[in-house]
Order: sequence, then structure tokens, then C-alpha cells
Amino acid sequence: MKDIPKFTISDIQLGVGNLEFEKAFALYKKGAVNHLEKDFLGYSAIVSGTHDYIVNVSLVSYDRGNCNCYLGQRDELCKHMLALAIALVYKYKPDDVEIIKQPLDQAVCSGVIRDITKDEIKNIKAEISKSFSFIKSYNGPSSKWFQYQDSLIRGSRLILLALSKLPVCEKSSIICINLLKRLDKKLLNGGIDDSDGTVGDLMIQIVEVLNMFADSNQKIKEYIKEKLPKGEVFDWESGFNAFNKQ
Ligand SMILES: [Zn+2]
Repeated sequence: MKDIPKFTISDIQLGVGNLEFEKAFALYKKGAVNHLEKDFLGYSAIVSGTHDYIVNVSLVSYDRGNCNCYLGQRDELCKHMLALAIALVYKYKPDDVEIIKQPLDQAVCSGVIRDITKDEIKNIKAEISKSFSFIKSYNGPSSKWFQYQDSLIRGSRLILLALSKLPVCEKSSIICINLLKRLDKKLLNGGIDDSDGTVGDLMIQIVEVLNMFADSNQKIKEYIKEKLPKGEVFDWESGFNAFNKQ
């Protein structure tokens, strides 16, 4: 099975900007990817955009490859490479073409009020620790900086996806609050380079999840008010609406 791509459509979606993904997906949909052939790296194809481009992509990672367009020649990930990567998943991994429909960079609440089960807690915790492998410290060369920022974006999106599955209850609120504490610690002394504000935005969105929980249920609102740490560096309570209006 070594000729099958190791990535899925949602991997590509989580790793690139929304607009980039949409452009690449549109190229694929209109049949711009042709002459697919196996090559030394993975697969090559002709992708028709403004011109016909010679593109190849590795089977290991959609962001490894080449394209002879303007961006590709500067070693940047272009929509032609992404379109080829998408085509490869559709062709060789048709079970992995699911597209994430919910917004990737903002809080989503399940809106379901009930207790979380033990299995759900276990799954969410596993998803969160996987996310944290992308939110790591940075001490690399500046040439890797963009890749590092992409890694932070991917980690943040994975966390928001995991939280979107939480039912509204006290234990779910605690999961969110503990996440805030963990991220807070990482930002303060975990060596994270958050120059783009990705992790900061993630924390704002987690407080937003708590706001949605509070809006769904008065008892949970009181519970969060009591449990949310106050006076932290990042001043979460100013983002929690229940403290600001009655
Ligand atoms: Zn290109």
C-alpha cells in the first residue's frame, strides 16, 4: 500500500488557509489536474491554471513537492500542488475525502446539554494531546518560521474541532478551563513564538466556547463564573460575558 497518499482532504484543509484550500479545490473540481503519473517523489501531473504547470507532490506530505509556477519556483506551496494533492486523495484514498464544514478558526458549540461520558472524555483528551504536538516551542532557523506558524494554526484548529464535540456540562467547562491554563503556561514559559497571535486567538475562542456554554444554561453559567481563574495575565474574565452584563 505504499503508493497511497498518507494525508487526507481534512489534513490539507487544516494545514492551509481557507482561501488557498478553496482555490485548489475549485481547480481540482473543474478537472484541471491531468496526466497523473507515478514518479520518484510521489506523483506528477499537469495542472492547468493560467498556464499548464508541471507539478509533483510527495505521498508522505502534501506540502512536499514542486511546481514550475511563480510561487513554486520560490519553493512556496501553491494551489497547483494542493490541487494535485487533493486529486491524489480522491483517486487513491476515496474514503478520506470528507471536508470539514464548520468554521476552522472560531469557536463552535455542540449546543447539546447533557453530561459528558467517560469515553468522550478519553477521546477528547487524546485529541487535545495530539493537537499539542503541533503547539510546540520554537528555536529553529528563521527559514522554518512559516512552517512553524502553520503548525500552530493546525494545532489550534484541531483543538477547536475537539471542543466543538463537547456536550454542554460542568465537566466540559472544566476541560476548557484547564486548556486555557495549559496554553497560558505554554505562552508564558513554553518557548512558543506566537508572533502571529494564533495561540492568543485560540484562547479567545476557548473563552467564546465557555460563553456559548453559559448562554445555553444558567446553572453552567454560574459554575463557570466560579471556576474561571481571575486576575490571570491574559485576563480571561473580561472575555467572559457573564462578568460584564447581567
Ligand atoms: Zn504552482
